[in-house]
Amino acid sequence: MRHDHSAVVIGGGIGGLVTAARLAKAGYEVDLVEKNADVGGKMGRVCFDDCTFDTGPSLITMPFVLEEFFALMGTDLQAEVPLQPINPACHYRWLDGTTLNVPFALDDVARAIATISPEDGPAVERYLADAEFLYNATKDVFLFNRFDGFREFLKPRNLPLLRTLPRLRFTSTLHKVHASLFTSSKVVQLFDRFATYNGSSPYLAPATLMVIPWVEFGYGAWYPTGGIYTIAEAIARAAAAAGVRIHTSTAVDSIDVVDGRAVAAIAGSQRFEARHIVSNIDVSHTRRQLLKQATAPARDLSMSGVVLLLSVEQEDFGLAHHNVFFSEDYQREFTALFTEKQLATDMTIYLSRSCASDSSQAAPGRENWFILVNAPAGIELTAEQEHAYAQAVLDRLAHYGVRPRVRQMQVRTPSFHARLWNAEGGAIYGRSSNSMFAAFLRQQQRSAAVRNLWYVGGSAHPGGGVPLVTLSGSIAAREIVASDAHTFVHSR
Ligand SMILES: Cc1cc2nc3c(=O)[nH]c(=O)nc-3n(C[C@H](O)[C@H](O)[C@H](O)COP(=O)(O)OP(=O)(O)OC[C@H]3O[C@@H](n4cnc5c(N)ncnc54)[C@H](O)[C@@H]3O)c2cc1C
Repeated sequence: MRHDHSAVVIGGGIGGLVTAARLAKAGYEVDLVEKNADVGGKMGRVCFDDCTFDTGPSLITMPFVLEEFFALMGTDLQAEVPLQPINPACHYRWLDGTTLNVPFALDDVARAIATISPEDGPAVERYLADAEFLYNATKDVFLFNRFDGFREFLKPRNLPLLRTLPRLRFTSTLHKVHASLFTSSKVVQLFDRFATYNGSSPYLAPATLMVIPWVEFGYGAWYPTGGIYTIAEAIARAAAAAGVRIHTSTAVDSIDVVDGRAVAAIAGSQRFEARHIVSNIDVSHTRRQLLKQATAPARDLSMSGVVLLLSVEQEDFGLAHHNVFFSEDYQREFTALFTEKQLATDMTIYLSRSCASDSSQAAPGRENWFILVNAPAGIELTAEQEHAYAQAVLDRLAHYGVRPRVRQMQVRTPSFHARLWNAEGGAIYGRSSNSMFAAFLRQQQRSAAVRNLWYVGGSAHPGGGVPLVTLSGSIAAREIVASDAHTFVHSR
């Protein structure tokens, strides 16, 4: 075991890259070991038929989180990945022909929603103000710092949070709050949808998730010219510039633990030793496969997805960059996904066409369509079922007046996702937030069971999504540096 300032990061997702970069910047010797040929993890990219497709995230919010990361690395977000605002932020369409463009600017959101439900305009304004309060009251405890579970409430600095507990709405579901505030079922559905931003159900998740719509409307929907994957490339560049040694196509098989302390990551015949071992892999996979612990499969997984990547002929269907086609019966859809663990037949369809904002992403006359349909984690589809479901999604789009002439298509299923990233059941966001205790049950950065083992990424605190895993990596790096400062001061 080495006693110097060194770390091995297992997995080159965004959380792993950020941890590695920040530790290297703090003077650590860092190896990052990634099983796939490219880093980025769920933030991926493929190209076919002269089109470029982001295969994971399509929308970036809380840009200040990335801004802070690049500033700490001595560079600049806008120079590395020029973000552009996306306006409208999203185009919504319902089966009865109703359409709504929600604008980028926060001040215009309520007015736009009032065009489909005049009485809900003022209610949306009140709701967003309340959600902003909630975000500001909770962010330092639940997002930006190390989280000590229920002990957080005993810390004197968090006393104001205790006083606001009733306004945090832990005990009500997101849907119940929306149904009590808005008269139009369409407006309820629009706000309910934000539970899916971390793979949860609005009928189960606590209303505290109101912070998600506020974050999208308050901080805006952004896209980097050149594609979302340029963010992974820029973070990897910053990590390499700080001295991180990145080993791709190298799968870690186990973590060597000696006397209760993680001392090395083993990848075939290679042994990566370091003072700290950081896992950016799904927490339950790390425990079962790398630590060989007999742990039960995680319950309460977040949703996975069926992804269709399509090159299509350019046509005008009245679409925007981001588009949502809502199902007729949202509750039925989530019962299928979370209770029956089946694909929904009346499915909500999300379609991103980044070519609408960035002509570099598709050849002239073509469009690069990314379609995401929620799917339960853990389901296995035969090739026949996969094909049939992709066709069902396209047939469904036709009901909204969208009949693309498809040139080529690739389909990605939950089991494909599970294999690609070693993500349990192909879950996109680790554990769901379908319980008021979800934040308290999530794995913290420091392992309680194995010394010098740390967790970062979507299945660890503070959860999934690009800004949150960036925060996860930053918190881990800060905690590692602080733990060493403590150790070395005391051993002197
Ligand atoms: C379809 C889809 C849509 C999404 N949409 C959005 C969105 O619009 N906005 C948003 O903010 N977020 C979105 N997300 C979520 C976001 O992409 C993730 O939360 C985030 O990228 C996860 O980062 P992570 O740090 O958890 O690492 P991961 O991406 O989980 O990466 C883990 C890495 O570990 C590697 N690995 C696994 N096992 C091993 C091993 N044994 N040895 C070495 N390496 C290993 C994997 O190959 C992978 O590269 C989406 C995700 C998906 C899949």
